[in-house]
Amino acid sequence: MGADTEEYEHYEAVVVGCGPGGAAAAARLADHGVETLVLERGVEAGSKNVSGGLIYAEESAPYTIDDLFPDFREAAAERPITDYYIHNIAGNKVKTYDLTDLHEHDTDWCDAVLRRPMDSWLEERVHEKTSETGGGVLTDVRVNGLLRENGEIVGVTCDELDPITADLIVAADGVNSELARDAGLMDWEEPDEWFQGVKAVVDMDADAIDDRFSIDADEGVAHLFSGDLFEDVRGGGFLYTNEDSLSIGTVFHLDSLVEQRAEPHQLLDSLLTHPLLAQWLRDEYDEREYSAKLVPDSKKVAHREPYRDRLVLVGDAGGQMQAQGPIIKGMNHAVTAGALAADAFVVSQGNADPESAGRRYTKMLEDSGTMKKLRPRRYDLARTVGERDRVTQVVDTVLESRVGGVAVGNPVASRLLERAYNSPFLVSMLPDTATGYVTLPSVIGEEHGRSIHWESEVEPPSLEERIGDLTYDTDVGNPHIRLRDESFEASGAAVYACPVSAEDFGGGCYRAETVKTNGGEETLVSLDTQPCVECGTCAIVADTEWEHPRGGKGVEFREG
Ligand SMILES: Cc1cc2nc3c(=O)[nH]c(=O)nc-3n(C[C@H](O)[C@H](O)[C@H](O)COP(=O)(O)OP(=O)(O)OC[C@H]3O[C@@H](n4cnc5c(N)ncnc54)[C@H](O)[C@@H]3O)c2cc1C
Ligand code: SF4
Repeated sequence: MGADTEEYEHYEAVVVGCGPGGAAAAARLADHGVETLVLERGVEAGSKNVSGGLIYAEESAPYTIDDLFPDFREAAAERPITDYYIHNIAGNKVKTYDLTDLHEHDTDWCDAVLRRPMDSWLEERVHEKTSETGGGVLTDVRVNGLLRENGEIVGVTCDELDPITADLIVAADGVNSELARDAGLMDWEEPDEWFQGVKAVVDMDADAIDDRFSIDADEGVAHLFSGDLFEDVRGGGFLYTNEDSLSIGTVFHLDSLVEQRAEPHQLLDSLLTHPLLAQWLRDEYDEREYSAKLVPDSKKVAHREPYRDRLVLVGDAGGQMQAQGPIIKGMNHAVTAGALAADAFVVSQGNADPESAGRRYTKMLEDSGTMKKLRPRRYDLARTVGERDRVTQVVDTVLESRVGGVAVGNPVASRLLERAYNSPFLVSMLPDTATGYVTLPSVIGEEHGRSIHWESEVEPPSLEERIGDLTYDTDVGNPHIRLRDESFEASGAAVYACPVSAEDFGGGCYRAETVKTNGGEETLVSLDTQPCVECGTCAIVADTEWEHPRGGKGVEFREG
């Protein structure tokens, strides 16, 4: 090592980010006695994080979160999820399928979680463990890049601290990983590689939840929603029961949101105000928090070799977020990957080749079957035919015709469809088209659904109220996103797709304004980062210089 970097503080391992991926990596490294420092940009772990969120413990996974943190379920989770349904919606007609078979496939247990309480609990455990190795967790620290020596990655640079060198660097910095991008392992260019999730946490006392969802205190339920209630945007909605709140949200393909010019907060409101939800929400809608975040689509972006030099990518930073049909599995894979990366480092320690840990980690992801789940080969086969526009058009036209109605509309077809929805094999090869998300569910709803006659009395807060209820520590005079190109062509998509902006709302992040120019008119886009919820969307859909705010700055989620 040269004179420059020798002066810097050195740890055997530095872990960037204390979400489930970083917490798992750090805990496992500490269990192996590796001196481990964890750097987290939030004021507390979880204050920046958003999930739906159901955390799965898969039977086939080499590590689950309770393997690493044995008290996890009791101390950090909300409710075990014991029932699982999907609702196919056409107007006010709804056909419900029981998805318990898919939910229970390869599942040891599954709990609902809220990320602030979950991650802050993990942070405490990780701090205890890593302190014993001579490291610990430092919050309020944003890593802003990779430290290189002679072109090789040897450490990290931070906004708040001097550079740090390490034998292993774990990038567990989530979606929009600045480290993965700095290493050239991920770009932020294609909207079709990402989903955008938006969520409301809704207050409801525990007894009301038990009563309205017909469950016991130690049970929980997941409801999913698809069909025509989200215009034609590809994606769906979810409702999960927590201990004394509900998590209700939407997850959409980002390219579809952009194509349809749909506004995420309005799509969320379409779900909240659908008559089907009136039976649970009744007339006391009290939203605790509005939040949003991108998630990668592992089928397209899970990195097959997620390492460079001493750097390894785990969790969302490596694109390891699996949409298994309608079931979203990101946290569990982040945990598995974090623990495997730690094991790989330990077995490679002493090897002079800086990439030996990364190579071993890649092999472990393959050998454990994790990579196969993230990037199923059958999807690659199915998409080559199924995602051609012409094929989608033909299938959708047939489905929407009388012939399609007759084919789907008999009881045998309905039973077969319910079985297909529950097949892990079939859902993992579903092409990413409107057919599965919109057309087929709408036809099922139309042909088999019962009419819902309840009236929704829910009045969701306005965007202004939602932003007003959030906590921010604004880095005044130091915006973390800058617009590179103000033209509507380059950056206009953010006016719609940003979850805290809207075409007719002046108080959000993005605005479009028509200005007079010599001889004509031009629509220009402007940006105010103050209300930003750091979802990452405009890094992909607008022409920006995008980074996370400095340590402790920006939005602070209480629920997550
Ligand atoms: C609406 C929605 C619903 C979802 N539902 C589910 C679900 O039901 N089940 C499921 O398993 N998954 C779900 N996910 C996906 C899941 O949230 C992610 O896959 C998971 O959080 C990934 O974990 P991670 O540890 O890789 O990253 P994260 O949880 O994002 O953690 C990254 C951490 O790194 C920190 N960080 C980032 N950059 C820096 C930096 N430069 N310096 C220091 N610290 C940094 C962040 O503050 C954060 O604490 C959902 C996501 C969304 C948005
Ligand atoms: S400004 Fe960008 S990162 Fe911030 S909330 Fe809007 S789209 Fe998301």
